[in-house]
Amino acid sequence: MHPARARVRRVHIVGAGLSGLAAALDLARSGAVEVHLHEATGRAGGRCWSFHDARLDRLIDNGNHLVLSGNGAVLDHCRRIGTFDLLDIAQDAALPFHDLAGGAEWTLRIPDGPVDLLRGRMALPPDVGAGGLVADLARLLTADPTRTVAQTLRRRGAAWDRLWDPLSLAVLNEPPDTGSAVPLAAVLRRTLLKGGRACRPITMPHGLGPTLIAPALRMIEALGARVVWRAPLRAIDRSGDTVQALIFDKTRVPLDPQDAVILAVPAEIAGGLLGRSAPTDGRPILNAHFRVPAAAVAGAPPVIGVLNGLAQWIFVRGDVVSVTVSAADAHGSARADAARLWAEVAQVLRIEGEPHATRLLRETAATFAATPASLAARLPMHTGLRNLVLAGDHVVSPLPSTLEGAVMSGRASARAVLGTLPEPARGS
Ligand SMILES: Cc1cc2nc3c(=O)[nH]c(=O)nc-3n(C[C@H](O)[C@H](O)[C@H](O)COP(=O)(O)OP(=O)(O)OC[C@H]3O[C@@H](n4cnc5c(N)ncnc54)[C@H](O)[C@@H]3O)c2cc1C
Repeated sequence: MHPARARVRRVHIVGAGLSGLAAALDLARSGAVEVHLHEATGRAGGRCWSFHDARLDRLIDNGNHLVLSGNGAVLDHCRRIGTFDLLDIAQDAALPFHDLAGGAEWTLRIPDGPVDLLRGRMALPPDVGAGGLVADLARLLTADPTRTVAQTLRRRGAAWDRLWDPLSLAVLNEPPDTGSAVPLAAVLRRTLLKGGRACRPITMPHGLGPTLIAPALRMIEALGARVVWRAPLRAIDRSGDTVQALIFDKTRVPLDPQDAVILAVPAEIAGGLLGRSAPTDGRPILNAHFRVPAAAVAGAPPVIGVLNGLAQWIFVRGDVVSVTVSAADAHGSARADAARLWAEVAQVLRIEGEPHATRLLRETAATFAATPASLAARLPMHTGLRNLVLAGDHVVSPLPSTLEGAVMSGRASARAVLGTLPEPARGS
């Protein structure tokens, strides 16, 4: 028999990152509950945001975010908040690469389906054969959760250097020697295995904030949600399996029996608030933004993969060139990094001279570590507390730390809450 269930009237969402916003949007749109969104800082977006940088005098993102057309939850989020038309979806599933070691350039092209494949519309990196690729994929798709990408593939060579190493860094923010094979396979299942239609690179020329965050927040507020800024949650007061109150910096918010909580904060903070072990070893990403003469980058592709350098991806947006360095803990001083990254950009894009302005941003905990050990510590959405569920990219799912995972988790938490809560156990 199912336990008795109570209808939820009010939901407190803690954390206004993409997962918290996705949850708030669904709940506010349902019209069935009152929504209170509490955010520790003075802005929404968490690890995904844009700001006007005074040095560049341009709107820049905290970090380049690459989305592929197989990221259905992110696309759906944009449709719901009316920003789908702001996305720049490439016409083909094609990514140009530049190898700084020898200057070689090639394009990785994924065919849409068997007909395109037969027409020769697949293009692999030099010296990478389709047969070896299929064998590698088979290994990854059946990987053991305790194994890394390197332990799963076991062989080095052109496919390793030109595909698996850059893909592991891009998808997992972890080199293949330490990154888990299972979340890489999960991303491949949603993209590469579905063919080119799921692999078109998507960029956001208007910025992450205007495309994913600000319109969502506006919609949530317009639907009557109450947003409380600079309200860090410090503790959770509970009795038995029920949260009794949320203790913020300045206020204690008591919960009624028909109140529920969605805790949409990063893994380490959720683990601390719940007294549970969670992935705590966040991984950094370094981004360098250079303002350059617009003419110098006219016609450049919006995204370019780079091999054998410090830079891994170059994004071009108007007259700003932004460079991503994933798994960035091993790198040196900001000044040395900026000079080296600019030299690499100049080589790839064939630009002479110096940039007009430079901004270096290091996000120290951009993603949770996608190592087998860290993934095994992910917390599930249901925590054992009857009126609290978790949301966030870190919550148990097949995906690594991604926008897609954050949106999916936020929406799942909203569904869980709207599915109503079990009645409190007798005596609690
Ligand atoms: C530089 C960089 C590059 C990235 N590149 C990509 C990419 O290419 N593709 C991709 O898909 N993903 C990428 N990501 C990952 C992506 O940004 C995250 O997976 C996603 O934004 C996580 O959203 P979230 O809501 O789960 O968590 P968060 O964004 O961390 O949101 C949590 C929110 O909770 C708030 N909070 C924390 N503690 C408290 C508290 N005690 N009380 C109240 N509020 C609190 C925080 O301030 C924050 O607003 C990148 C991330 C970074 C930083």
